[in-house]
Amino acid sequence: THVDNPYAGANGYINPDWAASVKAGAAQTGGTLGQQEASVANNSTAVWLDRIAAVTGGNGVTRTLSGHLDAAVDQANANPGKPVVITLVIYDLPNRDCAALASNGELSIANNGLANYKSQYIDPIANILSLSKYSNLRIATIVEPDSLPNLITNLSFAKCSEANSSGAYVQGVQYALNKLHAISNVYTYIDIAHSGWLGWSSNFDPGVNLITNTVKGTTAGVNSVDGFISDTANYVPTTEPYMTANQQVGGNPVRSANFYQWNQYIDEASYDTAMRNAFISAGFPSSIGMLIDTSRNGWGGPNRPGGASSSTDLNTFVNGSKIDLRVHRGNWCNQKGGIGARPVANPAPGFDAYVWIKPPGESDGASQAISNDEGKGADPMCDPTFHGSNQANGGNLTEALPNAPLAGHWFQAEFDLLVKNASPSF
Ligand code: BGC
Repeated sequence: THVDNPYAGANGYINPDWAASVKAGAAQTGGTLGQQEASVANNSTAVWLDRIAAVTGGNGVTRTLSGHLDAAVDQANANPGKPVVITLVIYDLPNRDCAALASNGELSIANNGLANYKSQYIDPIANILSLSKYSNLRIATIVEPDSLPNLITNLSFAKCSEANSSGAYVQGVQYALNKLHAISNVYTYIDIAHSGWLGWSSNFDPGVNLITNTVKGTTAGVNSVDGFISDTANYVPTTEPYMTANQQVGGNPVRSANFYQWNQYIDEASYDTAMRNAFISAGFPSSIGMLIDTSRNGWGGPNRPGGASSSTDLNTFVNGSKIDLRVHRGNWCNQKGGIGARPVANPAPGFDAYVWIKPPGESDGASQAISNDEGKGADPMCDPTFHGSNQANGGNLTEALPNAPLAGHWFQAEFDLLVKNASPSF
C-alpha cells in the first residue's frame, strides 16, 4: 500500500548507531548538558546511503542497508499497531557535491560513473527494498540532495558543468525515481535546496522547470514523487518569527537588507509553500507534501533575539531581529546553529513532516585535509580562518567550527553547541 503521507501515524526509525554516538558523547559530557544530550537519542534520523559500501557492506560500514531495515522491522514489532517509517538518503551520484569538496563521492562521470551508479548502487538498493520481509515498512527516500540545484547556480564549476552537459545528474535522478517509485511502500522526495539558494526568482523559476522536466521524464511522470524537501543539512530557520520578507522598514522591504540581498524568501516555510504551489501549477498533483530538515535550524541559545528590533535602519533592524545568527546565508559548514523542531508529521498545511535528515552531531566537512578512502576533500568553507568568495558568502569568515572531522563523522564539539542552542530546548 502507498499512503498519502508516510510520516502520518507512523513511528520514525531510531538509528541505533547514531543513538549510540549520541549517548557515548552525552556520557562523556556529563552534568545537565549530558542529560539533555542523552535525550536527543530518542529522535528519528535519516540513514545516509553515501557510498556503495553503505548498501552492500565494506570497510568502515557498521550496518548495511539490510541491517538498518532489519532493525526497523524489529522496532515495528516492538510497537505493534503502528508502522515504522525509515528515511533513506540516496546520495551517490557521479560527480557528487560538484561545487564543493567536503562531500565528494566515489563515482565520477569520466570514469563510467553513471552506469556504475545504476548497476552497483541503485539496483542493489531497489532489490533490497523490494524484499517482502520489508513490505510493512514505510520507506521514505530523499533523492540526491544538492544535485539538481547545483545545475541551476553552479555551472561555473567544471564538475557541475560536466554533470549538466553529460546529462548524468538528470538521468541518474530519473533512474533512481523509476526504480524507487515502482516499489509500493517506497516514497520519494526530491531536494529543492533551501530559500537562501534558490529563493531569488532568477533561480526559483529555472529550478522548478529543471526539476519538473526531470520528473516528467520518468516512467510514471509527475506521479513518481510524493513530495519535496528543503533545508537538507542546512541551517535556514523554518520561520523568522519577528519579520516578513516584504515588511517595510525605513521605507525599504526586509528582503532588500544586506543579509537577504533581495531574496524573495527569508525562511523555509514561506519558500516551501511557494515551491509547492509552483509545482502544482506545473502539473504535479495537489497530494504532494513538503518536508523540512529541522535538525539544525532551531537557532536558540543565549544570543537569540527575543523580539523584533525597534530600529528604523533596515540593516540594523534585520540583524537585530533575525534568529539565523550567521553573518551570511552562504555559510554552510559546521555552523553554530541549534537543533530545531522535533520530527513530526503534518506540522502545517501542505507539509508532510519536519524530519531530521542531517543527523545532529555529524560533521559537514573537515576543517583541514584528512586522508580517507571515502572520496572526501577539505573544503575551505569548513576552515574557520578562511574568507569565502564574494559568490560563496560575500567574502566573510566561514564561521565554521574548528577541528572538524570528515563529513559524516562524529563531531562532539558541534553536537554540544547544537544541543545548547536547541529551540525548543531539551
Ligand atoms: C556526508 C555523508 C554523511 C552525511 C550525514 C554528508 O555531508 O558526505 O557521508 O553520511 O553528511 O552526516
